[in-house]
Amino acid sequence: MDLIKLKSTMAELGQPAYRDSQVWQWLAGGGDSFDEMSNLPLELRTKLAEALPISTLEVEASAVSVDGTEKALFMTGDQRPVEAVLMNYRDGRRSLCFSSQSGCPLTCTFCATGSMNFGRNLTESEILDQALHFRRKTEVNHAVFMGMGEPMMNLDNVLAVCERLPDIGIANSHTTISTVGWLPGIETVTTEGPAVRLALSLHAPVDSLRSKIMPVNDRYSIKQVVDACREWRHVRKRKVYIEYLMLDGVNDSEELAHELADLLLPKNDFKVNLIPYNPSGNHYQGSSPEQIELFRGALMKRGIHATVRLTRGRDIDAACGQLAAKAAA
Ligand code: SAH
Repeated sequence: MDLIKLKSTMAELGQPAYRDSQVWQWLAGGGDSFDEMSNLPLELRTKLAEALPISTLEVEASAVSVDGTEKALFMTGDQRPVEAVLMNYRDGRRSLCFSSQSGCPLTCTFCATGSMNFGRNLTESEILDQALHFRRKTEVNHAVFMGMGEPMMNLDNVLAVCERLPDIGIANSHTTISTVGWLPGIETVTTEGPAVRLALSLHAPVDSLRSKIMPVNDRYSIKQVVDACREWRHVRKRKVYIEYLMLDGVNDSEELAHELADLLLPKNDFKVNLIPYNPSGNHYQGSSPEQIELFRGALMKRGIHATVRLTRGRDIDAACGQLAAKAAA
């Protein structure tokens, strides 16, 4: 729902401001038409239905993985592709993975989104409509900004979305913003916005290697970014998730595990998540499960807590780093 247009339409129709939030509450609860919004006068419902589509996004395609993960490809009104994923876990977690941009300008060398053209930032309503799409089918309770794009380059809209997610069923403590290390964004969320969680896509513990695989590192160095994360941890009182993609022969040696431990110690401000690499149509290979365990073991011995991320939705190109709107290409 285009919330800005909803507001202006209500105003044009001479409606009081609380009508906007009535509509929003229906949508947040999974409503899919004005018809069912029974606390709105019938005549108003008809007028709204004529004036406003229920979503800013058109569903272009969807796919369901053997593990129950569901991916949707949408198009914005100006024909920009957007993808979002819903992961269903046995323990009842239903986690949404949103896109904050159509494409991404940051060109991380291992990421499929980084290799497509950058479109533009998505609006608050376009991000929320990804969530509402899945909310119409099922309850949802977790959200991660790990789809297409860099959320901290679109921070105002991302934070506005975070403010509304609790209405949909997703508490701020169950919402994670994942960043390449966009320094001004990390500094902003340290003191502003709702109390959501922070994840840093680190992927390498030394600048020379990190700059090779993530060009954004030339702009904000590891030290600057990790220091900013420590400050966030100090103010927000939550550990920062460190995401570390396991690339065979690139960043997965035990020596680098020790460099990573040196970087993150002495204080226990972080939780490391080792990510098995998902094939994304480039020259990288994922590390073997044995190598991932060696790396994890080296971290644990140094007192750094590390887990290996469960990969979901690989068969439908819905796993991390695979969102590139292939169907639209
Ligand atoms: N721009 C943000 C959020 C989007 S990417 C960020 O970088 O954090 C979400 C996560 O998926 C990041 O940690 C990213 O590095 C990781 N990723 C990218 N390509 C991947 C791939 N092919 N396999 C596994 N993870 C990947």
